[in-house]
Amino acid sequence: MAVPGSGSALVIGGGIGGIQASLDLAAAGYKVYLVEKSPTIGGTMAQIDKTFPTNDCSMCIMSPKLVDCARHLNIKLLTCSEVEALNGRMGNFRVRVRKHARYVDEEKCTGCGECVQDCPVVRDNEFDGGLSKRKAIYRPFPQAAPNVFSIEKNGVSPCTAACPAGCNAHAYVALIRNGEFAEALKVIRERIPIPAICGRVCGLCEEACNRACVDEAIQIRALKRFAADYELAAGLEAPLEPLAGAEPGREKIAVIGSGPAGITAAYDLARLGYQPVVLEARPRAGGVLRYGIPEYRLPDEVLDHELEILQKSGLVIRTNTPLGAQLGYHELRDQGFAAVFLATGASSSHALRITGEELEGVVPGLEFLRALPGGGAARAVRGKVVAVIGGGNTAVDAVRSSLRLGARRAMIVYRRSRAQMPVSREELEAAEAEGAEIHFLLGPARIDGHEGRVRRLVCRQMRLGPPEADGRRRPVPVEGKSSAFDVDVVIPALGQALETATLQAAFSDLEVHKDLIKVDPLTLETNLKGVFAGGDAVGSGGYVVHAVAHGHAAAESIHRYLRGRDMRAGRQQQEVAAAPPPSRFVSRRARIMVPAVGPEERVASFREVETGFTTEQAVAEAGRCLDCGVCSGCRRCVTACKAEAIDHDMQDEIRELDVGAIVVAAGCRTFDPSSLTRMGYGRYADVITSLQFERLL
Ligand code: FAD
Repeated sequence: MAVPGSGSALVIGGGIGGIQASLDLAAAGYKVYLVEKSPTIGGTMAQIDKTFPTNDCSMCIMSPKLVDCARHLNIKLLTCSEVEALNGRMGNFRVRVRKHARYVDEEKCTGCGECVQDCPVVRDNEFDGGLSKRKAIYRPFPQAAPNVFSIEKNGVSPCTAACPAGCNAHAYVALIRNGEFAEALKVIRERIPIPAICGRVCGLCEEACNRACVDEAIQIRALKRFAADYELAAGLEAPLEPLAGAEPGREKIAVIGSGPAGITAAYDLARLGYQPVVLEARPRAGGVLRYGIPEYRLPDEVLDHELEILQKSGLVIRTNTPLGAQLGYHELRDQGFAAVFLATGASSSHALRITGEELEGVVPGLEFLRALPGGGAARAVRGKVVAVIGGGNTAVDAVRSSLRLGARRAMIVYRRSRAQMPVSREELEAAEAEGAEIHFLLGPARIDGHEGRVRRLVCRQMRLGPPEADGRRRPVPVEGKSSAFDVDVVIPALGQALETATLQAAFSDLEVHKDLIKVDPLTLETNLKGVFAGGDAVGSGGYVVHAVAHGHAAAESIHRYLRGRDMRAGRQQQEVAAAPPPSRFVSRRARIMVPAVGPEERVASFREVETGFTTEQAVAEAGRCLDCGVCSGCRRCVTACKAEAIDHDMQDEIRELDVGAIVVAAGCRTFDPSSLTRMGYGRYADVITSLQFERLL
């Protein structure tokens, strides 16, 4: 009986030794599997200038062999491959080979190189010993065998992995670095329908940036803003691009609330061919973006511009249309809405629960900020001493707004430490620069009044105790220690909760738990059929981008629900391993600060503080990106490839081979000169290795 694999051989290593062994075995009639871990065969000899001792051109000797090897009918080239396991004995081996994904189909790639032009990621070219550059999609050298391209990937860049809405931050940073601003904005808009807004208020991606291990994180938020403002300045239009599977004329969907969750869901539903109608209680659309975040951070005209783009794309927003006792579940059904998305936010402020809270002069944070456009907030604080209680965005927005409205003195009183403040470091520093006082480790104990008005805020001294469930150390009072401030206005800003009364008037059977609408966290379904909820109303995470993520999820769920599809299949969150900081040496490069109006000038009005990057600044700041995941996933190569050979979702393949003999020609360990800094290597550009010298030749 024939032994499996007796007529075949495995050659490990595609250098000149492995190539010659393969050619000889193939010529003798054996089937040969040539396994090489890099994308091409050729090994070190392909990098060398001349052969020894004949002084022939190395590539002239090598290239016919590369071609023979790639074309020989008896040789199967397995590049990007490694032997994982080996069993059996001489004459009868079973070998398991892992063929790593090349992300380019070897059968389809014509080697034309069109893809390279558009790739925005530049790497050191290892084939030239790092003396030249290549792109993330590359072919090691022009005579490579197989003569096809491959894409270098190193997982997902941490900025991209950190975005709850799945926005590919690495890709748009790379495109901005390349000067492709409209393309960058296209990438952002795939997941963020309000880029100019998120470019002003959301920088979660930035917190994950690996560049912070070297010097400081990339200004990803400001780069996002730059791309969006570029479109605005250039007067470009952003057409609504349909999503896969879109069909026009689908059902009417009611979206309740025009905050980021509501408008994102409506945007996606419109792109799928549904007829979403956003019903908004207030006179103007935008939710907290309009009635919360002050204009010096997010000007109304930016919000108006983004809403206008969405409305031009088919989004219908009906303002002054509150859901409530008059307009509820049954009425919406009667009006022909096939599904409902509740994105009503969390608009009722948490109480302080201390004596004196009922006094005149105590104004809840969100109410204070909502009154900004009408002038009510100004009347409340002009010429007064204001104490804001809390450490989040609402608190810092309230204190900075108070200063702009003419408060005599404005302070934040926070029961934890500076490091525990949820607001960003930049926001806090900006508030301090404008003159806000920040008092840490003080917990409000009572408010004293005089003739029914606030007169003094009494606080207990706190210290940090053991950690709480969220890992932050719990503030505990220090016995017998207190401080008091003579104040006229107290603004509690301890967070917001769902306003349940109106909701339950509209949807009497809607289940609410701990001041949030109860939903399935994966599908956002409520206990009522065809009713979904998301954003702050269900506790999405507290950032605009969390609400955006919920908007996408709700649209997907409504689509599945109405099309009778499985609500859960393929939606489980995969744990994404973010790429670590690069191990190579990276020289320090100062972060480019976002230009801003000076503190004295800015407290005089609600004019926007940050003025945004110039083109040169944006390109230079994007140039600090470390390309942690190597390929940014911008998919420019997909568009460029006429042969449709690029497959970013390609997976590793496992091959089981039966062979009778194995030739190991894996070469020796490559010399690593990186530790030879004492000899000047890595310090002086003209100290090079012999291999680099060969490449120069
Ligand atoms: P919302 O934005 O609250 O929108 C809900 C909408 O529903 C509102 O327009 C409301 O009027 C409407 N509505 C409510 N009830 C009804 C009803 N019965 N009928 C019809 N319509 C109704 N996040 C960041 O990422 N960065 C920041 O810098 C930032 N700053 C913030 C500053 C402040 C002061 C606040 C309060 C929040 C801030 N946030 C920030 C958080 C962020 O704004 C919210 O997480 C986000 O707006 C939530 O979006 P949403 O769509 O769920 O709700």
